Amino acid sequence: MTSPAAHPPLKRITRLAPSPTGALHLGNARTFLINWVLARQAGWRIILRIEDLDGPRVKPESIQQSIELLRWLGIDWDEGPLIQSADLSPYERAMSQLSHRGHIFSCSLTRKQIEEAASAPHDEGHELRFPPALRPSSSESGRFEFQPCATNYRFLVPDRPITIDDRIAGTVTRNPGREVGDFVVWTKSRTPAYQLAVVVDDARQGVTDVVRGVDLLPSAARQQLIYEALGLPLPQWWHVPLVLGPDGRRLAKRHGDTRLLSYRETGVPVERIIALLAGWCGINAGPGTNRAALSARDFLEAFQPATLPMQSVTFTEDDHQWLVSA
Ligand code: GLU
Repeated sequence: MTSPAAHPPLKRITRLAPSPTGALHLGNARTFLINWVLARQAGWRIILRIEDLDGPRVKPESIQQSIELLRWLGIDWDEGPLIQSADLSPYERAMSQLSHRGHIFSCSLTRKQIEEAASAPHDEGHELRFPPALRPSSSESGRFEFQPCATNYRFLVPDRPITIDDRIAGTVTRNPGREVGDFVVWTKSRTPAYQLAVVVDDARQGVTDVVRGVDLLPSAARQQLIYEALGLPLPQWWHVPLVLGPDGRRLAKRHGDTRLLSYRETGVPVERIIALLAGWCGINAGPGTNRAALSARDFLEAFQPATLPMQSVTFTEDDHQWLVSA
């Protein structure tokens, strides 16, 4: 990875985009800190955006909680928060454009019907692929006037490789047509789906640099299709390697309670958490070092993009013990 300072001095904009669906854990916190530090070191503008369109899982109090936890970490921003659910009209306008240009179709098939029609067996944990055979006949699809109704709309995904130019992951090729098929862009709960909302917001907020977990790399390919269909310029992608549990799976509840909120409630100082996260970012800090406490400012001074590990890092029980022994 090259230093962000190597970029030409354009005004660049990034965003912190928490989904207030579950409390922030150590893995999310590390990605947000990396996003923040890349931006602050290179002088990018930072926008906070609350991605709260994910239906019933979003609780209003968790919006405030996500904001407070970012502040507790010492992360700041220059603009926002923009709350996605406050105004759906930008997404509706994008849907109209997509419908006029023939990129979407309405679909009332249930998950079960799609599963039955998908030829490849579909294991748990893998996404269900919407097969082209289930597309409506050309007489029913094509160009039309989108109405924001309670129906799923899907994006017509071509069967072709999409190349993602990523500042961390390198050049990656994915074929969303083979992986996921025609994905949902508007849901039957009358809200835009994540793939559409994120593109519309990044474009209207002028985001030039998207920094997020590498688990969203497959989504970048889908999002590139939407950028293309709407005639929008692509952002620069930075997909950060993940924090894994000792079993090699993405850090989650099954690895114990690693939520920032829980550590804060048990009295773990935030400086100790940042020291652990900094150790996971190639800085000499955290367990096994003599730097057991770091502020976000210290992190900002010590961080060097070139030493950010290119592989995932592992959270162990020893790390947890180290945190709670503070
Ligand atoms: N809101 C998403 C999340 O918290 C991030 C989406 C994105 O960065 O594109 O996982």
